[in-house]
Order: sequence, then structure tokens, then C-alpha cells
Amino acid sequence: DHPSNASVASAASADADAFVAACRDAIGAAHVLTDPHDTAPFLTDWRRRYTGAARAVLRPGTTQEVAAIVKLANTHRVALVPQGGNTGLAGGATPDAAGGQAVVNLARLNRTRALDPSNNTITVEAGVVLAEVQNQARAAQRLFPLSLAAEGSCTIGGNLSTNAGGTAVLRYGNTRELCLGLEVVTPQGEIWDGLRALRKDNTGYDLRDLYIGAEGTLGIITAAVMKLYPLPAANVTALAALPSPHAALDFLALAHRCAGPLLTGFELMSDFCLRLVGKHFPQLRYPFAEPHAQIVLLELSDNESEAHARTLFEQMMEQALESGLVEDAVVAENLAQSRAFWDLREHIPLAQAEEGLNVKHDIGVPISRIGTFIEETDAAIAQAVPGARMVTFGHLGDGNLHYNVQAPEGVDAPAFLAQYQAPLNRIVYDSVHRHHGTFSAEHGLGQLKVDEATHYKAGVEIALMRTLKTAFDPLGLMNPGKVLR
Ligand code: FAD
Repeated sequence: DHPSNASVASAASADADAFVAACRDAIGAAHVLTDPHDTAPFLTDWRRRYTGAARAVLRPGTTQEVAAIVKLANTHRVALVPQGGNTGLAGGATPDAAGGQAVVNLARLNRTRALDPSNNTITVEAGVVLAEVQNQARAAQRLFPLSLAAEGSCTIGGNLSTNAGGTAVLRYGNTRELCLGLEVVTPQGEIWDGLRALRKDNTGYDLRDLYIGAEGTLGIITAAVMKLYPLPAANVTALAALPSPHAALDFLALAHRCAGPLLTGFELMSDFCLRLVGKHFPQLRYPFAEPHAQIVLLELSDNESEAHARTLFEQMMEQALESGLVEDAVVAENLAQSRAFWDLREHIPLAQAEEGLNVKHDIGVPISRIGTFIEETDAAIAQAVPGARMVTFGHLGDGNLHYNVQAPEGVDAPAFLAQYQAPLNRIVYDSVHRHHGTFSAEHGLGQLKVDEATHYKAGVEIALMRTLKTAFDPLGLMNPGKVLR
């Protein structure tokens, strides 16, 4: 039950109103939203798991305006919730329900400040949408390799703040590895110009790396220098059918051996994942005539030529089929077919949503342990919840799986969630812990996984994180309740 905006307004102190009024002066009244109709889209997260309330949604247009807002927040002691495209999956960009916080939406900071083809860098403001960065790079014959299904809406500031992964981590790394420099507004409202376009810079503590993945708890990222790469001459996409996750791991080793750095994507999808996609999106048909336990989507990117990539690919598949590792394979003949293969992968979460509420886990374990992790955890879940349907897919090449559990056929999904969410989380995360893995490989902690952090991280690690947070943000104004409680 959230207080209505009217009751929040009436309960708010005169100082709160003074904050909103001062923000209107600082960034223009048109960019300070308080009407419930206007603020609503900014107050619920993408998965509709959290709805908060806010004193205002602020939409600054420049770094100086962000700094002005943060200074006002210090004066009036108002907590701020930074927000980009609001596509995060851990509730990090949603304010709490009390109505005292203000959302700082960065979408209007959407300028490209520089593109330097010889330095292979692009400098963009935090609100630039990821797809736009990719497009600008392509127009300059360069590749910006960060790619994920939310790329039409998520922003570079959000990607950096969650250290997003996506489908090309295997070759290019997470967002952290793609960033050279940052501009940040500190919790005191100072502007730190760390927009260095350097590949080497060993001059003390790495503040850039601290801000990346901080989920808005240490300050607000306003701009970044990101790395660009040569645009590949060709991509080859294929689907391979395999009997088990263990076989998929052996196939990954073979692909690394044969393709080396050309291997850019290696995504695992269980048979059930693709059946679910076919059920809810009939145009996306199961890609093989016979059923197979596991399907791998793999992609090679080649800077030489399409012919070179295809020859290499054929040699690799010959070995895989001859050794019995791979049961069947299909190679995309053109861009449209390649797109169709990726559509299968990207429709899995959508098909899950159509099928009903489910328990999601975004786990990571050392790659070598993935097969054993799946076997052991599947067995434990089958025992605890007979009939539970496992939806296992993800970035096998990075040791990162979306290990989700759908209610047994015919069972009411909300009732299933109410009864089993907590025990299922414990089974999965305990198993992850035994395998020296992580309970959040890609999506961060937000508000969703703060308690898991205190449960599974060592006390000394949490204590160091708290020390950092207090040193940077002694008033606790930056995204309180996220990452640390
Ligand atoms: P928001 O959701 O607005 O914010 C996310 C967090 O960052 C919040 O804590 C917020 O406070 C903070 N923040 C935002 N902007 C700033 C800023 N400028 N300064 C400081 N803090 C800020 N993630 C992956 O890693 N890999 C995937 O493959 C992937 N696939 C996805 C697919 C779909 C369909 C969806 C909906 C999400 C997916 N995600 C994935 C989640 C991913 O985290 C987000 O898509 C993206 O990185 C967040 O960007 P955003 O601009 O939407 O950030």
C-alpha cells in the first residue's frame, strides 16, 4: 500500500517542498515531474516487481544540472535514486514506498561528445541508449560490442552502473572491460572529470572501477569514454545439438581451440526452453527434426572474410560431429537466419513470462563446474518440488546461467511462488556457494538481492563495502537500500 501522491505532498515537510521548488529553479519546471500520471512510468521496475513513490522525478539535461540537484539534495537531505532506461532486473532504479526520495532520470543526458576512430573510443553521456552507441560506432566502421536484449531502451549509465554483461562477454568482456574513463557527480555534488581515453593509467586507486557496478550508490555517472573495436567482416551463427551440459562444455573447449579469439558467443539452451518458445511464439519453430537435450548457439566473428570464417567453422564442426560430441548442427546461411537463431535465444524470457510467474536465478560458477552444478541442483529441486520445470539457459561461455524454475504443469503460478520461492532460492544459492560461484552474475544486487549478499558474502567483505559507502556518501543520500542495507 503506497501513500498517494496527495498524502505524500501533505505529509511532506516545508523543506521537502523547498527542495522541489529549488529543483524547478535549477533545471526548469518542465523537467521536474510531480503529477502522479507523469511520474508513474518511472516508479515501477521492468519486471513489475517493485513500485515505489517519489517526491519528484527529476530530468536534468546537463552534468552541471545533475551537480546542482545533488547539492540541493545535500542541503535538504533528500535521498536520490539514479535511473537510466529502467530496464534493470534487480529493482535498483525504483525508489522505496515512503515517498521521500527523488528519482534522477538521466535520459536527457543523451549527447555524444566525441568519436575518435584512431584511438578507437567514443565519449557519450550517461543517458545515451545502448543501441545508439552501437549505431554510431557502426557508422564509423567500428564495433561497440556490448549487446543485450534490452539494448533499445537501456542506457550506457545503467550498463556501467550494473556492469552489464550480455552476449559478447566471451570475447570482449563485461561493460567494465569496455570503459576507459568516467565523468561522475559525487554524493556532495562535485564533478569528477575522469574522462581519460587511456589504455594504461596506473596512478593510484581506480575510482572508475569502483563506480562501475556500484548501482548508483556512490554517485551519479554522467558521461563515459567507451572502447571501440574493428567492425568484423563477417559473423557466422550456428546451432548445435548436444546430449548434455557436460558435452556442451567439451564442445566449448573444442571451439576455443579451433576458433581462438574469433569465438564471440556461446549460449546454452535446454530442450525445454525451446519448446516453451515454440509454444508461445509458434513462428519460432524448434530448429531440429529430432529432440535434443541441449542446444548451443555459437557465433564466430572474423575480421578477414566470410569465406575464412566459414572454412574455420566447418573444420570445427567436422571434428565435433566425428567425435560424437555434437549430434546435429545447422549453420545460418544469411543475416535473416542468423537473426532467427538469436530470436530463439532472446524469446526464452518472454516465453517464460507468457507461461506464468517463475523463480529466476542469475548464477555464475567456474565454467568447469557448470555440468556438475546443473546435475546436482536439478536433482535437489526435483526432490523438493516434484514436477518443477527447469528453464536453464544462458551464457555458458562465461559460466553464467539463467537457472529458472517454472511451476509444475497445471499448478497455479502465484501460489507456487508464495510457497516455493524462498526454499528454491536457498537450494540454488547453497549449491552455487558450494561450487564457489555467485548468486548474481549479471544483474547486480539492487534491492532484490541485498539480503543474499549479507548471507553469502564474508563479513569482512561486507564491512569493507560499508566503509567505502560511508566514506563516499556519509549522509546516505545515494540510492539508499540498494547494494547494502
Ligand atoms: P536502470 O535500470 O535505469 O538502472 C540500473 C541501476 O543502475 C540502478 O541501480 C540505477 O540506480 C543505476 N543507474 C542507472 N543509471 C545510472 C547513472 N547514470 N549513474 C549511476 N547509477 C545509475 N543485463 C545483463 O547484464 N545482461 C543481459 O544479457 C541482460 N539482458 C536483459 C534483457 C532484458 C529484456 C532486460 C529488460 C534487461 C536485461 N539486462 C541484462 C539487465 C540490465 O542490467 C539492464 O538492461 C541495463 O544494464 C540497465 O540499464 P538501464 O539504463 O535500464 O538502467
